[in-house]
Amino acid sequence: MSNYAVEVPSIVGLPIVGSDQLFPVRRVYCVGRNYAEHAKEMGFTGREDPFFFCKPADALVAIPAGKPGQIRYPSKTANLHYEMELVVALGSGGVNIPVEQANDCVFGYALGLDMTRRDLQNECKKQGRPWEIGKGFDESGPIGPIHPRALTGTLSQGSITLSVNGTQKQTSDLSQMIWNIPESIAYLSGLFELKAGDLIFSGTPEGVGAVVKGDKMIGHVAGLGEFEVHVV
Ligand code: MN
Repeated sequence: MSNYAVEVPSIVGLPIVGSDQLFPVRRVYCVGRNYAEHAKEMGFTGREDPFFFCKPADALVAIPAGKPGQIRYPSKTANLHYEMELVVALGSGGVNIPVEQANDCVFGYALGLDMTRRDLQNECKKQGRPWEIGKGFDESGPIGPIHPRALTGTLSQGSITLSVNGTQKQTSDLSQMIWNIPESIAYLSGLFELKAGDLIFSGTPEGVGAVVKGDKMIGHVAGLGEFEVHVV
C-alpha cells in the first residue's frame, strides 16, 4: 500500500465513444495562434513557429454526449472568451517524433473549448508574465468525449464552428491550421517527451469573443458531432 501524507488527487478520466473505458489525462498542451485569421485578429501575421501553453488536467470539465454541460463563470474577469478547438488525444508519445509518424500517436479526438480570461491574459502579455491566470483557471477546459481515431479516421479537414445563443460566432475548417496536427505533435515532442494520456488543444479559428452567465455555446467539428456548454 502506498503511504501518502494527504489525500491523493484523482486522475481525470474522459469517456470514450463506443467504449466503457475512460481516457486518462496526463498533460494538457494548447497551441497558440494556430489559424491565420485568428492570429490576425490578435494582431499577428504569418507562419511564426508554433508556441504552446498548458492547462492543468483538472481544469477540464467533461461535457456529456447528447446533453448540455456547464461551466461556472470564473472569478476576477469581465471578459471571458470562448475558443472552439479540436482536441487531439495521444495513445502513445515519444521525443522528436517525425511528422510522418505523428498521426500514429493519435488515439482520438474531442471537441474542446479553451476558455480564456482575455483581460487577464492581455495584462500578462503586456507585463511579460506567464499566462496561467488567463488560461489555466478552474473549469477553463470543457471537453466532449474522446472519439477514437479507429472510428473517425484521421482528421485533417472539415468544418469547425461555434455558436452562442444560436448565433454563429466561429466558422472555419481544420485545413486552415497554420501547423497541422502531425506538425504540432512533432514540434511539441522536441520540447517535451509526449506520453499516452496527453491532450493537445490545437488552436482556435477567428471569431473569438466574450460570453456571460446564461449564455449557451454549441461547438461542432465535422466527424465529432457537437456539444453544448452553458455558462452559469
Ligand atoms: Mn486556444
